[in-house]
Amino acid sequence: MELIVRSPFEKSLEEIENFLMRKIQWVRKQLAFFGTQEPAQVERRYISGEAHYYLGRQYMLEVAESHREYVSVSRERIMLYRRSENSRDLMGAKQLFLKWQSEMVAKHLNERYRAMSRLFDYKDIPTMEIKAMEKRWGSYRVKTKSIALNAKLIHAPLDAIDYVIVHELCHHEHHDHGKEFYKLLSRKMPNWQVEKKKLERYGALVCG
Ligand SMILES: [Zn+2]
Repeated sequence: MELIVRSPFEKSLEEIENFLMRKIQWVRKQLAFFGTQEPAQVERRYISGEAHYYLGRQYMLEVAESHREYVSVSRERIMLYRRSENSRDLMGAKQLFLKWQSEMVAKHLNERYRAMSRLFDYKDIPTMEIKAMEKRWGSYRVKTKSIALNAKLIHAPLDAIDYVIVHELCHHEHHDHGKEFYKLLSRKMPNWQVEKKKLERYGALVCG
């Protein structure tokens, strides 16, 4: 990434440097925000200006003071409110953020799982658990008739989350990736290939 400064011709280099020094915090914030591509590969510090993916969109984290500690999402920001006496406690910021994120994982994955299950006329809907997985977005276990979803799906768009769930729900009927499996998948989600592409940006596999 490069930084280009345009200035009027008569400005001296010193004046330009002074201007940049005054703006340095803003510049750093912008660089941190636009320079981040993939959430999992960046070490998180939970400070203002950091980019975080949430449901497929990039948000800028902003830490602010408040009388109570909580996290809220506005159009382009994730606000992390800390009590002033805790403002230097970076571990606490991380814990607050991760607690909020795991609540959002549970909320959204459970909601989408319920919604996608309705597309199937299974009498016995597989049980679902949310797990931290390294190489898969989701998996289906024949033995226990259960589906595991990767907690990292919270970074992906809702449509892509739906695709993972529908894919795994199709395995309840067809355990392998044979012709019948894809027939069922295409019937339940005609645009599944588009959603699969979206997920590939984020790196993990749907099924091993
Ligand atoms: Zn599969």
